[in-house]
Amino acid sequence: MTPLSEHIVAMIRQDGPLPMDSYMNLCLAHPEHGYYMARDPFGRAGDFTTAPEISQIFGELVGIWCVSTWQTMQVPDPFNLIELGPGRGTMMADLLRAVKVMPGFLESVEVHLVETSPALRRLQTATLAQSGAQVHWHEDIESIPDRPTLVIGNEFFDALPVRQLQYTEIGWYERVIGLNRSGELQIELAGDRVPDAALPDWMQDAEVGEVAELSPARADYATRLARRVAGDGGALLVIDYGHVRPGPGETLQAVSRHNPIDTLGQPGECDLTAHVDFAALEDCFVDAGLSTFGPITQSQFLAGMGLAERLEMLTKRSGARERMKIVDAARRLVAGTEMGHLFKVLVATHAELAKPAPFAHMKEMER
Ligand code: SAH
Repeated sequence: MTPLSEHIVAMIRQDGPLPMDSYMNLCLAHPEHGYYMARDPFGRAGDFTTAPEISQIFGELVGIWCVSTWQTMQVPDPFNLIELGPGRGTMMADLLRAVKVMPGFLESVEVHLVETSPALRRLQTATLAQSGAQVHWHEDIESIPDRPTLVIGNEFFDALPVRQLQYTEIGWYERVIGLNRSGELQIELAGDRVPDAALPDWMQDAEVGEVAELSPARADYATRLARRVAGDGGALLVIDYGHVRPGPGETLQAVSRHNPIDTLGQPGECDLTAHVDFAALEDCFVDAGLSTFGPITQSQFLAGMGLAERLEMLTKRSGARERMKIVDAARRLVAGTEMGHLFKVLVATHAELAKPAPFAHMKEMER
């Protein structure tokens, strides 16, 4: 038992089984025992590693994207740069270093970090102390001032909760967490059938036993972000792992020390994430009136933003050993067997903005 599982068992005893998205939300965001709240989960000693933690080139190329998109926005001053879920603050630090080449950007930018974890906010404060930018923290995007906005987020949406539904002979049912006879957590199906009318088209045709994931929490976040950009001008850059076409499949996974574990095994002590349904995100952006580009793979995005040139510059003056380390880290970001294909990049812009980088000079990925 973890401190959080005791709390969850008591909740279920009192109010009945919990939908999967409520369970995931408690595991990640419970104010006291939530996974992100009190710890630094990143890096080799932690539970998982993210792209900005692998290579500085990642944040630098996102910085180049910001500069380029800010230019297509006609260099507004001041403007917001919002980062969703900044982790250790590494991507923002690398980005802010890279944008120094563009006169005016650092003078005009106001950085807004959206972060719920007090522990990670402390780390971000330390990482960004020398950045030269004004940095503000928020629990949610609603407290950020209205002005032209760039939004970036790496591995943010995968950490927002998903519902799980399972198809049976008599239709779709919500998966919930209940208790077995020994009082341990177990997955069950809720009593009431979910009406087909409440489900997207791709779920109308399914096979018995199939599981589907839906995320009202992600749709809500995406819609609120998109409305802001539609109203104030700007663009969004979403980088995450997931799938381009919607469809059934169970992707929710718990990860501890770089290995998958049972999703009910250690509530609050391990990371829980699920693949991002990029089509669902795109729908939210389009419904709010934005233009969307992609999704393309992380590998296509980084290549399009100038990975090869950046690598060349970084390794020019380094010794053989150092060069090998830099090149290998970059390879991990783009290799098909590592992050290059699973991770996707979706860009959404205000409808009046010119085509953003890297799409302006590349053929879009086949859908
Ligand atoms: N972008 C970072 C971290 C990804 S992990 C990187 O690439 O390394 C997910 C991040 O989102 C963490 O910083 C976590 O604390 C934050 N987070 C999770 N749910 C959140 C929410 N609802 N609001 C704001 N931040 C959240």
